Amino acid sequence: MKVFKFGGASVKDAAAVENVAKVIKQFPNRDLVVVISAMGKTTNALEDLLAEYASGGSAAPAKLKAIIDFHKKIAADLKIPDSNLEGQLDALFGALRQQLEREPSDNYDFDYDQVVSYGELVSTAIISAYLRATGLDNTWADARRLIRTDNRYREGRVNWVKTEKLATDKWAEVKSASKKSGRSIMLTQGFIGHTDERNTTTLGREGSDFTAAIFAFVLNAVDVTIWKDVPGVLNADPKYFKDAVLLKRISYREAIELAYYGASVIHPKTIKPLQNKNIPLYVRSFLNPSAEGTVIESSTFSDSLMPSYIFKVNQVLISFTPRDFSFVAEDNLSELFSLFAEYGMKIHLMQNSAINFSVCVDHASAKLAEVMERCKERYEVLYNQPCELVTIRHYDQDTISRLLIGKKVLVEQKSRSTARMVLVEN
Ligand code: ASP
Ligand code: MG
Repeated sequence: MKVFKFGGASVKDAAAVENVAKVIKQFPNRDLVVVISAMGKTTNALEDLLAEYASGGSAAPAKLKAIIDFHKKIAADLKIPDSNLEGQLDALFGALRQQLEREPSDNYDFDYDQVVSYGELVSTAIISAYLRATGLDNTWADARRLIRTDNRYREGRVNWVKTEKLATDKWAEVKSASKKSGRSIMLTQGFIGHTDERNTTTLGREGSDFTAAIFAFVLNAVDVTIWKDVPGVLNADPKYFKDAVLLKRISYREAIELAYYGASVIHPKTIKPLQNKNIPLYVRSFLNPSAEGTVIESSTFSDSLMPSYIFKVNQVLISFTPRDFSFVAEDNLSELFSLFAEYGMKIHLMQNSAINFSVCVDHASAKLAEVMERCKERYEVLYNQPCELVTIRHYDQDTISRLLIGKKVLVEQKSRSTARMVLVEN
């Protein structure tokens, strides 16, 4: 069995959904578990609806209506003859509406999961019906009964033992029900799960990649393919780098490093379960499904063949110097770290000297001003903006020199395989 994952961009409208069917039809004899995200930007729209609901705003019904209309239009454009679909969508949207008619609870994250999870549910209901109508027999499976998590809403942690039991039982049921058709397709939602008490949870934004890895792990898939709107994993984001090239083969280790430094290739949690069972991960283009794309697997053989670039723009480099000239040591550092943690500011790079500590963080002005205000009595705080943070894996002097044209280096850090630089325009 193979696991396929289709993200929001691959199901953003009727033409995109038609294309999903074409991709699946290229694999006629394979058992498949197909994991699908919410359509287009639906998760953002649901977050927006939730915020309105939670704050008691009056625009919630209008926002809900826009979401319903968007999905009904896609279903209509797909001309699905399935008479059950309308009822299924009405039931799902009806349940969402009921949720929104209740008083918000005092746990925002709980409410988030109860509301935002509908994006995946309606998306897969439509796609399941469409696939069936085009001859791709499949079983719609509710991930709210398959992926068991703890009750950390918005970032549910997987209970692997229970998930394995639930998913294996379901997959066996799907297989025996589809015996006649020669192959089995189970279609399910990314991103969502449930607690022991059957409350819905989510796994964190962009979590559908992780869902694909969870199913692959517990069902022992032969491989996983993430279908994307790029040809595979590139050595740089083409937005910032016009000569980006495809990395045909990289290791799990390299993929994790790239994700860690901020390459938006795949959700960082995706790799571990696959690595643990040595299941290859393919990243391929849904626009050009016969192209090979990238394979991520255990061999590190090709990792260093080409430098990779990760750009983080809109950064700010803040430097702290204790006013009393005391050393930057454990006590100051722990004070500063707790302050960043309190504001949810993620440190992308740090550096210290005797009496100076510098960090590179996302430029988020409101938070930044508050942090600086709270520090100014004990530290002299300086900052540089805007700057960018560039990470180069497998660098050589040539690639660095080319990047530095017209730039000034504020901080430079090098290890054997990785060079990191904070740069400003000269
Ligand atoms: N729909 C969710 C999100 O947009 C999960 C995903 O697409 O991976 O974050
Ligand atoms: Mg997505």
